[in-house]
Amino acid sequence: MDRSTPVTDLKGIGEKTGQLFQKIGVRTVGELLAHYPREYETFQPPVPIAEASPGQVCAVYAEVASVLRPKKVRRLTILSLSVRDRSGALQLTFFNMPFLKNVLKPGGFYLFRGLVQSRGAARVMEQPKLYSYEDYRKQCGVMQPRYALTKGLTNQAVQKAVRQALSLYRFEEEVYPEELLSQNDLISRREALNAVHFPEDRAALLRARRRLVFDEFFDFLLLLRQNKDLSAALPNSYPMYETADTVRFLEQVPFSLTRAQKKVGQELKEDLGSPFCMNRLIQGDVGSGKTIVALLALLMCAANGFQGALMAPTEVLAAQHYETVCGYVKKYRLAFSPVLLVGSMSAKDKREACERIASGEANLVIGTHALIQEKVAYRNLALVVTDEQHRFGVRQREHLAEKGKDPHVLVMSATPIPRTLAIILYGDLHISVIDELPADRLPIKNCVVNTSYRPKAYEFIRREVAAGRQAYVICPQVEEGELEDVENVVDYTERLRSALPADVQIAYLHGKMRPQDKNRVMEEFAARHIDVLVSTTVIEVGINVPNATVMMVENAERFGLAQLHQLRGRVGRGEHQSYCIFVSSREQKETMERLQILNRSNDGFYIASEDLKLRGPGELFGVRQSGEFSFGLGDIYTDADVLQAASEAVETVLAEDGSLSLPKYRLLRQRLEETSGQQGVDFRTI
Ligand code: ADP
Ligand code: MG
Repeated sequence: MDRSTPVTDLKGIGEKTGQLFQKIGVRTVGELLAHYPREYETFQPPVPIAEASPGQVCAVYAEVASVLRPKKVRRLTILSLSVRDRSGALQLTFFNMPFLKNVLKPGGFYLFRGLVQSRGAARVMEQPKLYSYEDYRKQCGVMQPRYALTKGLTNQAVQKAVRQALSLYRFEEEVYPEELLSQNDLISRREALNAVHFPEDRAALLRARRRLVFDEFFDFLLLLRQNKDLSAALPNSYPMYETADTVRFLEQVPFSLTRAQKKVGQELKEDLGSPFCMNRLIQGDVGSGKTIVALLALLMCAANGFQGALMAPTEVLAAQHYETVCGYVKKYRLAFSPVLLVGSMSAKDKREACERIASGEANLVIGTHALIQEKVAYRNLALVVTDEQHRFGVRQREHLAEKGKDPHVLVMSATPIPRTLAIILYGDLHISVIDELPADRLPIKNCVVNTSYRPKAYEFIRREVAAGRQAYVICPQVEEGELEDVENVVDYTERLRSALPADVQIAYLHGKMRPQDKNRVMEEFAARHIDVLVSTTVIEVGINVPNATVMMVENAERFGLAQLHQLRGRVGRGEHQSYCIFVSSREQKETMERLQILNRSNDGFYIASEDLKLRGPGELFGVRQSGEFSFGLGDIYTDADVLQAASEAVETVLAEDGSLSLPKYRLLRQRLEETSGQQGVDFRTI
């Protein structure tokens, strides 16, 4: 059994279960083993009821005191009972499990485990899990993996499949030479894969992560460094000079550039006219106004008779950039002749777009990775700008270079990265920072609340909508069943529709929708036909709807602070006061304190570093910090030390043997060839 063996070869996985696995992106055994747990749960010994405090998941061993008759509320059957031990009493509620009435008899002792919540003076546990004392004792203290699931697929089933796969898997030979392993404190992949799924303890899990994350970073950096062209100072094949166009454009737009925007604009101008090809990164917090600076460079490019390309990570974002540019062209008579090129366009539209690009009639091409497909031939591509996705830039740069003679490259990023990491991740890119927000912005008002605040939040959204504004509501998952106890976009939309007046237009957006549908929803939202947009984090990347003033995030405790900050950046983009409501369904002190950091600061850089301080590396495994750098397991912030180590290891290897032709690097070279063959694998297709 190896990487490519279909999961349906495992015992107990037939065609039907196989389809469920496919839904979570698992077709092969290799993919199953890389379906890392989202989190781990360790059962703690039962506590006396008096110590079961709200906001915490607890286990209690208690006697059933009384069972009420099941109540019907709409489609729900609610069974309530009260249990007690010597220290106190607790309410339990079960939904749609009326049969428990016959199982849980007054006077019987059971072990219940669940989230304790306060309801007025009383404490309740909703939908607790039931265990026999013996069973619970056996599982106590063991870290249990929790996987991303889908409806119909239980955590138990995934666990079983993984266990089986681990025992039958033929592990590949070690690709690193021995000294690299020992210098970097790396365990074998075999041990790592076993421990990441079934860790003995925290320490074992951290060791496992270290190895797996190291591999991800190492591959990425090796590919990056191997591409020598990226770091060499190439001659400027497309020298550009300022024309009247940019000056006139700036005179016309209804705002003046910030000091930081001007500074960066100047740096770009100097690059484009210098003897060397531009290779630059613009780092600027969300809302700092990166787009217009890039447009100035693209305008210079067009005015000098060249073509420019603007690439976005998603169709939604590409379409939005296109709209913005078209708006500017119409209003200010810019020298752009823009064309949109995205995957979901009809074959005919694509062909027409390509013709305009090939003839040179279009001088600004805006799109997603469809842009760099083989078929697209440019007339004279001189500048490539990539927005909000670094990997997009790096991986594709070599392909772009083939399209023309080394175009200038500009990468825009909102991910705040400390300088040491930036040097590793961006290599030789020059870095410009927009460290200032436009002055007319009102600071966003934030609050961190628990779920009991929801009715007030809905009322607030209703009032904002009545005043002509719009709102986002973010849920961590798309539909029911992926994770337990977590809000999902589809059901939440329904609930919101019944909580808000009928004339409030509510729609949803998530990554599993077809690109056309996503584009349509975003267009409708931008055109104000939709008032409230319920979405997953797909809208985290770059969307600009200045009329939106409310950002409500459900299960905020599940997101990294840097990511929440990105989400917050979707509001506060216009002249109106904006608001952020972070709803935490865990009332634990640490969770609330962590979220309070967002309250205190509006500085992405500070937030990311504080977040790290509060929760050492490797904590909160499921939390993703950076959407831009998407690795399977690794996170550039929490695994910064591993990133550093991988970077040094890559340098050492390449210094010794730049072409990886020594026998000890044979397997490494093979793996590199495999990964570099997987074009486009890492694109987040949102
Ligand atoms: P980001 O850096 O997050 O990509 P955008 O470029 O989308 O930010 O800019 C956010 C909003 O701010 C846009 O509506 C843009 O028109 C506006 N904007 C940009 N620069 C300025 C400025 N100097 N003054 C006022 N508004 C600006
Ligand atoms: Mg942007």
